Amino acid sequence: MNDSVIRGRLKEACGIFGIYGHSQAAELTYLGLYALQHRGQESTGMVTSDGEQMYHHRGMGLVADVFGKKGLLKTFPGHLAVGHNRYSTTGGTLLVNAQPILIRYKDGPLAVAHNGNLVNTQQLREVMERDGSIFQTTTDSELIVHLVARSKKENLSERIIEALGCVRGAYSLVFATPEAVIGVRDPHGFRPMCLGQLDDAYVLTSESCALDIINAEYLRDVEPGEMIVLNEDGVQSFRPFARRQNSFCIFEYIYFARPDSIIFKENVDKARRRLGHQLAQEQPAEADIVISVPDSSNTATLGYSEESGIRFELGLIRNHYVGLTFIHPSQATRDKGVLIKFNPVRGVLNGKRIVVVDDSIVRGTTSMKLVNMLRQTGVREVHFRVSAPPLTHPCFYGIDIPTREELIASSHSVEEIRHFIGADTLGYLSLEGLLKAVPNRADDYCTACFSGEYRVLPNTAGEKEVLERKTFAVKRSQ
Ligand code: SF4
Repeated sequence: MNDSVIRGRLKEACGIFGIYGHSQAAELTYLGLYALQHRGQESTGMVTSDGEQMYHHRGMGLVADVFGKKGLLKTFPGHLAVGHNRYSTTGGTLLVNAQPILIRYKDGPLAVAHNGNLVNTQQLREVMERDGSIFQTTTDSELIVHLVARSKKENLSERIIEALGCVRGAYSLVFATPEAVIGVRDPHGFRPMCLGQLDDAYVLTSESCALDIINAEYLRDVEPGEMIVLNEDGVQSFRPFARRQNSFCIFEYIYFARPDSIIFKENVDKARRRLGHQLAQEQPAEADIVISVPDSSNTATLGYSEESGIRFELGLIRNHYVGLTFIHPSQATRDKGVLIKFNPVRGVLNGKRIVVVDDSIVRGTTSMKLVNMLRQTGVREVHFRVSAPPLTHPCFYGIDIPTREELIASSHSVEEIRHFIGADTLGYLSLEGLLKAVPNRADDYCTACFSGEYRVLPNTAGEKEVLERKTFAVKRSQ
């Protein structure tokens, strides 16, 4: 997500797209990836197939930069495609780690695009390397295709099921072969995934905004633990994995997903507005205007304004053209990021008591610079409001949240954070309020980065032994 990268804040994991049954699969995938750009800006890629060959292209940077060259998409024929936008959460910022990954194994070519993060990568890798696997990338996604390739099951669906039986963590995946596109969402449903239709073609993607851009109809969410096969027989749904406790990433509603998307069966705009309503109820302020930290906080700020009656104003203008310079953030670029990215509107702010709504405080330094910048425009009071609870724990499921030591709220009280960022008042949305504002049942969500309650823990004791048994089982059946 642009904001996160530029502002030295949270980084989204990835966006995925798959389509089967359309003669313009490459063009439609390009558009779908364009709509999913907010989910990853480090690299992008696409694999298409005409039923015989597979065509593969990946590049570092934005979708339009990598695929926008005139005539390039015409070199990707086929009626099916999968695509991927990446921000790395495992593996480095290297072209070799860009997705989709395309391998050729004994049964032919296989491509995969992955959104999420596995929690048993290290053990799997150790076990498989000892067994002779040679990895081309440093991503956890490559482990999945290796496991699929090692399986001796009858058909691809069964091989994928066997492979995914060895992994734990968060995955929304789209696979492609010359004959089919297959989507799988992990049994906890950490990351979103939905199914759409365009004429006779079917689409699998992270967010419904990628369906809108190609005029496809949103049909439904892919359920946690569901596998969907798109091929010449149409759409087939399988439930090969036992359902686990739903663990939808609640941060998708706070920050990551686009407001015009439907995820977890609810419109993001509606949910995000309710966060603003709830925040205004829990953390009122005496102020003349309320402003957002654009763009990701806009919707929650509108909600705050609606509930509080405080006028919404555009007090910060975001420069949308700040781009790849900041894709690899360092402290130095973080320091400059706020000033480069946002410009205060003096005429709106000068002499006012303002509420600033943001969706998170990570290290606190960005918020401090923002408050400082606002004060320099002559605001009288800054009341900082956060449309999420204090961020205290890292994420193991595909979002690049810093370590506990770097998260200011893990070791500082709200009052200490207020003092650090220099606001007159500071208020967070409570976890109870957050869960009240989002749809579904409260226990359908992962809230680990606020609560520390992880539903899938990395590196559990005895796991290596189990993996050894499982991978041996695969090997023995060969
Ligand atoms: S830990 Fe936080 S960011 Fe990660 S999946 Fe859970 S709610 Fe989402």
